[in-house]
Amino acid sequence: MTQAAKAGTPLSPAGEAEWALFLDFDGTLVDIVERPEAVSVDPELPVILARLKERLGGALAIISGRPISFLDRRLEPFAFDIGGLHGLEHRIGDRLYQCQPEEHPRLREMADRLGEVLALKTGVVIEDKGCSVALHWRLAPQEKDFVLSTAQAAAEALGVDYRVQYGKAVAEILPAVAGKGRVIETFLQQSPYRGRRPIFAGDDLTDENGFATINDHGGLSIRIGAGETIARERLGTPADLRHSLSKWAAGGPLPFTGDR
Ligand SMILES: [Mg+2]
Repeated sequence: MTQAAKAGTPLSPAGEAEWALFLDFDGTLVDIVERPEAVSVDPELPVILARLKERLGGALAIISGRPISFLDRRLEPFAFDIGGLHGLEHRIGDRLYQCQPEEHPRLREMADRLGEVLALKTGVVIEDKGCSVALHWRLAPQEKDFVLSTAQAAAEALGVDYRVQYGKAVAEILPAVAGKGRVIETFLQQSPYRGRRPIFAGDDLTDENGFATINDHGGLSIRIGAGETIARERLGTPADLRHSLSKWAAGGPLPFTGDR
């Protein structure tokens, strides 16, 4: 019997073969740091994820705003299934679907202009991901309003095909089709994810879109940390989640109950 069943929640008892696990990266598996490139990964994390993936028959994917290439470097030596750039690119097994920056010429021009506009704003970090551009103000909280209005104006100038994704001390200009819920749906239509009950853990506004998809599928949505959410369960910190995943990977019962 799973913990969920013992706790008397709506979750039915389910063997590991019935679950598909989707995990955000920053703020969920690892702590958020001041400079996005400086993120540090607990050395045990890739091994825990690999064990868990095996236990789940391969149905484990990272769903992040980061590019796949960045996540691969942080999770070496493993090549996990990944939905990157808020779902603009994804990899299932050895099948890779990438976003091509040259398909977004106006966004590329805008990235250059944003670089010029924000060059004099000390502490504002521009993260150019090719098919999206993230503006971080974690190091310059006094520039928050300026960054928000700049990002909004940039997206409006680009028209309806682009939007702004807000997050923790970040505003990202990206194609309007991007969304974590959408890429989770893509995974759920393919083996080994198809027919499984999804779990998704995330920490930020961009993950709420994924939680909606998970809830629609009768899955288990988990918000890491504080903040308003539609997720059905909450954990305090990335360390709490890593601890739960580690116990599950080692053969323990499903470590989530579906209780807030
Ligand atoms: Mg996150």
